[in-house]
Order: sequence, then structure tokens, then C-alpha cells
Amino acid sequence: MDRTLIIFKPDCMKQGHVGQVLARFESAGFKIVGCRMTQLTSALLREHYAHVADLPFYPEIENFMSSEPVIAMALEGEGVVDKVRGLLGPTDSSKAEKGTIRGDFGKDVMVNVVHASDSPENAEIELNRFFSPGELY
Ligand code: ADP
Repeated sequence: MDRTLIIFKPDCMKQGHVGQVLARFESAGFKIVGCRMTQLTSALLREHYAHVADLPFYPEIENFMSSEPVIAMALEGEGVVDKVRGLLGPTDSSKAEKGTIRGDFGKDVMVNVVHASDSPENAEIELNRFFSPGELY
């Protein structure tokens, strides 16, 4: 069965949108198979965001992502990686349609509610980064 990593980002935590966002994932039929609350460190963020770590806006991302503890979750279901990205909408919340998670709850290109893995290959890598095997059910 397919699995993906999602992270409820600091804006989602701070504004109390976790329940509403999670309800969308559960309504779409996805099952929670792992869950952990954590304060993201600089080292972990550099690894997780290695593809943007050399870009000029990276320090802002690091500040934002470490500004509040977050909830990391493993979700399972058929086609979950692409379907969750579809529920989120595009990276830039201001371009996301109403009805998508980012369109309804996001602020801009950085403050965009939820991280979700972008491919099954990356999902596996990211799930291993955030969870030990015994923490996934
Ligand atoms: P996604 O999270 O949709 O897969 P990316 O992998 O391209 O998007 O970017 C990772 C994260 O970096 C985004 O979710 C967002 O928080 C931040 N980000 C991306 N592009 C920008 C930008 N131009 N300015 C500020 N932050 C950005």
C-alpha cells in the first residue's frame, strides 16, 4: 500500500487548522499509520529541504519551519502521494484554488499549511527521516 509523509507546518499549528485539514485527508479515505510531534532542527531542515537549501530564501524557510513544534504524519492509501498533493494545491497558496487546503488556509508561497512528499521515492526517504520502523503501523 502507498504511503506519504505530511507535516502540519507552523502556520497550521498556530492557527488551529490541524483538525480541519486532517479531516480532509481522512474523508479522502487515507489512514494514519504514524504520528509524531516534533520541533524541527536546523540540521533536519537542511536535509529535508536540501533541494532549496542553496536558494536565497532558504533562511526564511528554516526560521518559519522551526518557529513552532509541528506534527509529522504518515498516511496510507492507494495513490496517496499524488492524491494528497492534489488536495493541497500548488506550493503558492495565493495561486491555489478555493477548495484546496492551501487555497483555503494558506498565506503565500512559504506559509502554505502542509508539507507532503512529491513522489513515492521521496515519500520513502522522508518517512525514514521522520520515523523509525517501529513507529509506523
Ligand atoms: P512543495 O512544498 O509544494 O513541494 P517546494 O519543494 O518547491 O514546494 O518548496 C519547499 C518549501 O519551500 C515550500 O513548501 C515553501 O514552504 C518553501 N518555498 C518554496 N518556494 C519558495 C519561495 N519562492 N519563497 C519562499 N519560500 C518558498
